[in-house]
Amino acid sequence: MPSNCPNCSLSENSGSEFVRFGFFYRTSDSRWVQRFRCQRCKKTCSKATFHRWFRQKKRIKNEALRKHFASHGTIRRAARNFNLNRKTVVRKLLVLGFEAECRLRLGNAFSPKVHEVEFDDLETFETTKCKPLSVTLAVESGTRRILGLEVSSMPAKGLLVGKAWRKYGHRSDERGHGRRKLFSGLRHLVAEDAIIKSDSNPHYPGDVAEFFPKASHIQFLGKRGSLGGQGELKKVRFDPLFSLNHTCAMFRANVSRLTRKTWVTTKNPAHLHAHLMLYAQYHNEHLEK
Ligand SMILES: [Zn+2]
Repeated sequence: MPSNCPNCSLSENSGSEFVRFGFFYRTSDSRWVQRFRCQRCKKTCSKATFHRWFRQKKRIKNEALRKHFASHGTIRRAARNFNLNRKTVVRKLLVLGFEAECRLRLGNAFSPKVHEVEFDDLETFETTKCKPLSVTLAVESGTRRILGLEVSSMPAKGLLVGKAWRKYGHRSDERGHGRRKLFSGLRHLVAEDAIIKSDSNPHYPGDVAEFFPKASHIQFLGKRGSLGGQGELKKVRFDPLFSLNHTCAMFRANVSRLTRKTWVTTKNPAHLHAHLMLYAQYHNEHLEK
């Protein structure tokens, strides 16, 4: 029975008295749902009102879609296979991504504090390689548990600089902001005297020192992975950032939009964020051990 009436709880917090008030039949998943009536305002609500999937018509597909997106599934193929409209699939991706983010944060908050962290940027792009995106990712060494990630835009690099400027104009570099946002979220997950490992990017030490003043930061020389993903699992005998690079490779293998240079591509950074969060939560739940 609900504890607060959605209609009159705002005016009084003393709680309202409910009585059972029949059922309604939900056709989308063939269930009878209990209704309630508030004795004070005579308005009704039901068990469905407080459910996380309130007003969803295709809720029966949600769990299958979650697995689909965490197992190299694409939006268009989901629309075809699950008999849904493509726009419905996009909306579901966003909802499932948000739910996954909440579960990822909760799971990390209730886990023991981390003593060894590896972080780095994974690069991809939206629509064209002239508009690259950077995914800053932090994992726990050894277990490969994903602690957090942030998507940020960055300007084009190398030979594409001139073309990108002509076609798309200025593109802001938000990597620093994304990294600081990630670190502020990590602060309560990481032990004070932790070891933090990264590559030799000159921007890293300042931010690490600010957010983790008592931690020791170790930087390793390494070649960067490309936009398409080559170079993340390196052909070297010993990789000091193995946990991170292995996780990046698993992202490339299991998140469809990261797979190949120009096959499935991201069109919207918010959707990339939802998809990555969905995979990260699945990764922590099923694949970590
Ligand atoms: Zn009421």
